[in-house]
Order: sequence, then C-alpha cells, then structure tokens
Amino acid sequence: MQNNLIIYNTLSRTKEKFTPITPGRVGLYVCGPTVYSDVHLGNCRTFISFDLIYRYLLFLGFKVRYVRNITDAGHLEGDRDEGDDKFAKKAKLEQLEPMEIVQKYTLGFHDVMRSVNALPPSVEPTATGHICEQIEMIKVIIDKGYAYVKNGTVYFDVEKYNKEFSYGQLTNRKLEELLEGTRELSGQDEKKGRLDFALWIVAKPETLMKWPSPWGWGFPGWHIECSAMSSKYLGETFDIHGGGMDLQATHHTNEIAQSQACNHKAPVNYWMHTNMLTMNGVRMSKTAGNGFTPQELFTGDHPLLEKGYSPMAVRFFMMQTHYRSTLDFSNEALQASEKGFARLMASIKLLDNLKTSATSTSNIKELEQDCYNAMNDDFNSPILIASLFEGSRIINSVNDGKETITESDLALLKKIMTDFTFDVMGLKSETSNSTSDKALQGVMEVILEIRKDVKAKKDFAASDKLRDDLNKINITIKDTKDGATWSIQE
Ligand code: AMP
Ligand code: ZN
Repeated sequence: MQNNLIIYNTLSRTKEKFTPITPGRVGLYVCGPTVYSDVHLGNCRTFISFDLIYRYLLFLGFKVRYVRNITDAGHLEGDRDEGDDKFAKKAKLEQLEPMEIVQKYTLGFHDVMRSVNALPPSVEPTATGHICEQIEMIKVIIDKGYAYVKNGTVYFDVEKYNKEFSYGQLTNRKLEELLEGTRELSGQDEKKGRLDFALWIVAKPETLMKWPSPWGWGFPGWHIECSAMSSKYLGETFDIHGGGMDLQATHHTNEIAQSQACNHKAPVNYWMHTNMLTMNGVRMSKTAGNGFTPQELFTGDHPLLEKGYSPMAVRFFMMQTHYRSTLDFSNEALQASEKGFARLMASIKLLDNLKTSATSTSNIKELEQDCYNAMNDDFNSPILIASLFEGSRIINSVNDGKETITESDLALLKKIMTDFTFDVMGLKSETSNSTSDKALQGVMEVILEIRKDVKAKKDFAASDKLRDDLNKINITIKDTKDGATWSIQE
C-alpha cells in the first residue's frame, strides 16, 4: 500500500505526513451527537466530512477502527458544568423518559446518516453504556493527584495539571490567557480554580439519570466519556481524533488533560477539526435556532428554503468546500451544486457507451494522479471535484467525437470516475431504474400538468384538492417560480 497522505494536525498547526502507530491500521475517534434533539445540517457537515475521511482511509487500504460515540448522558447546557441536563429538560418538555428521548433522537440521527450515504462507524459506544469505565478513569485521576472531591462532585484540578503538562496546548494558549477569558469564582463556587471542570457531578433529588459511584449518586461530566471510550476501544494513544472546531477549546482540551493525567501519555497523534456550517455568516446551532433539519432540507418545508434538495445534492454541496473552510448555506449555492452533481452523474452514465480509438487525446494517468494528489493533500475534496469535472469534460468530448480514447485509457477513466465519485466521496445515483419508479415519475408528470391546466383556468379549489390529496399519501407538492416540484416524505 502506498501512503502519501498528509494531514493538517491542529496540535502542531501544520500539515504533517500521516504515519499510523501500527502500519496498515488506523484508529479514528470522532465526537458524535448529543441525542436530545434532531441533528441540524451543521452537525451533518461534521459527520459527512469525517465520512469522507473514513472512506478515503479505507480506499487507501487501511484497516480502520472508526469509533463515533453517542452522548446520551452528562451534557449540561453550559460547557462549564452549569445549567440543566439537556436530556432531562427535553424529557420534561416532551413528557417522556430521558431514555425515550435518547432512543428517539438516536434513531433519527441514524436515519439522516443513512440518507446521506454515510458509512456506519465500527463501534458506536454510548456514555450510559460506559459508566464503569468513566468511574475507573476518574478514580485513577484522583489517585494521581489531579482531581479533588467536593460534596460528591469530582473536579479536575487544571492548575495542578498545568504545572507538569501544558493545558492549553491544543489551541496554543497559555493558562494565564485562558484564565483571562473566564469569570471570577464566587464565594459559593466549589471549584478551587476557575478553569477546573467536573469529572463527576453529584445528583440532585430531582435528577433522573444517575448512577452509584464511590462519591455517591451522580452522573459523569461530558468530557470524561470520550476519554474513557476512546482509550477503551483504541488504546491509550491512538492515531486520529476528530470533531467540530467548536470542541477544541473546552471539550478536546479537557479530553487531553484527563487522558494525559491518567496515563502520562499524549492520547492522540493527529487532531482534526472541521469548520462550521454557517447561515448568513452565523454558525448554525441548536441554541441559536438558525438551523433546519436535513429532513426539512430534503422536502423544502422550511421558510428559508426555496425548494427541496436531494440528499446527494446536499452531500455534493458539502464536498465542494474543504472541511477546514467555513461553508455558508444559501439556496443559490445548493442549486448550483444540484446542477454540478447532475452533470457529473450524466457523464458517468455515458462511460458504458463510449467508442474507443487507437490513440488518446487526453492524459488519463495524469488525471488519476491529480485525484490522488488532491485527496492526499489533507482530503481536499474541492480539488478532487475539479479533477472529476475534467474527467466529465473528456467523457463528453469523446462522446461528441471531438476527442479520442484508447480501450485501456477508457477502462482507467471509468475506474477513476467511479472509485472517486462513489467509494471516496460517497455519492450515489438517485435516479432509480426500477419500472415502478419510472411509472411513478410519469404519473406525477401527468398530474402536475393537469394541475397546471386547472390553475391556468383559475380553478384553485381543484388545484388545492390535488395538492392536499397527494399530501395525504405523503407526496409533497411545492410551487416554485420555475413550476411545481414533488417529493416523497419518507
Ligand atoms: P453536538 O450534538 O452539539 O454535540 O454536536 C455534534 C457535532 O456537530 C460536534 O462535532 C460539533 O462540533 C458539530 N457541529 C455543531 N454545530 C456545527 C456547525 N454549525 N457546523 C459544523 N459542525 C457543527
Ligand atoms: Zn467528545
């Protein structure tokens, strides 16, 4: 296996040659969703970016153990151990058990991942399934002197840790700078230091999700779950740890501190962070309320959406920007991606019927190298797409008789186009060839034509009835300035 992969490592702030701990194998950990509400498109961007990374590692021939957790306990509203438990709050609101909330949104998350063709991870551990491992890890941290107990809550002692290790190394900040950004402790605070964070939190009488521990009934802090689960499945030091950029300063900084305090070893060789999806320049988030769910994006059923977009158009839209750049959502950008994706797929379809000649006018080997070079350079999918569009141009030119290609070059071109489009970028054809789907497509075209006619005759009652009747059987009609479109609600 040839490995020329270069990865941008947040820890060193440089691009580095990727050398796995065990040749041919990769341990990859990605922070998964907090399952107390539907994932929004921003969360999806991060998981789709890591799906591309996982797919390319597999494509290169690595045996990858990909661990992506489910946070189903211990995530308070504030990053610094304050606020309500997110699950308990939602459970109250929806009048459900906290574990019903967890189940509902875990299933929803899996549905979304399946619809955007993201491969499932090798292990998907939950925080509630690893309480023992978290307690054991906290015990070691206390024994080694880096944590203290106050009224049943266990705090990590950041200043003590920083005397031996560098707490702010991931974001290249000194402790003094970090302290400047935090508020003073009040007389009521149990913490010794302003940056100290909870490893274990004492249960209040009303706490629903709680477990017994050496410090009494309580629940784990958010950060300890990832340290405990990553070391359990990938070892004390593993290759790649990923997540969104918003996790660097607190969650990942605390993960490094916990693991290092426990094992006296750096837990991760390469830290990778994806940039944010924004909406008019503002980060999409659950708390900001500026997000829509992938389901709303697919149906177009949201005031910010001009129409629905297919899952593969959305995936293609995400691939057109490098994972370390911000990506701003707009209807125009998505419509351009929709066209680009259709153009790419249309050219791939032509591959089976191209005529071959004695000579080739384009250099297909060079095109192949360009694709590898793009992905080897820190998974640069927009550059890869530019090369695939060059492939499409060649296919169309050969099809139009303007260029020629030999049989062996055509076989190579076919391999490049399908390997990188389907296996690496995880795109798939959305046009079904089944007879019934084709028939449905035809019937819907007839119905939309009839509806157009009745609207032209100003018989709005009839056109509304058609729309409402279709809605009852889960077919959504949307009127756009370019005419009506239809989609099936899954
Ligand atoms: P959460 O469910 O809030 O714990 O987030 C799950 C993942 O989504 C984390 O890796 C976050 O960094 C990531 N994430 C959250 N918001 C965005 C966004 N607007 N763009 C990209 N990734 C995001
Ligand atoms: Zn995490």
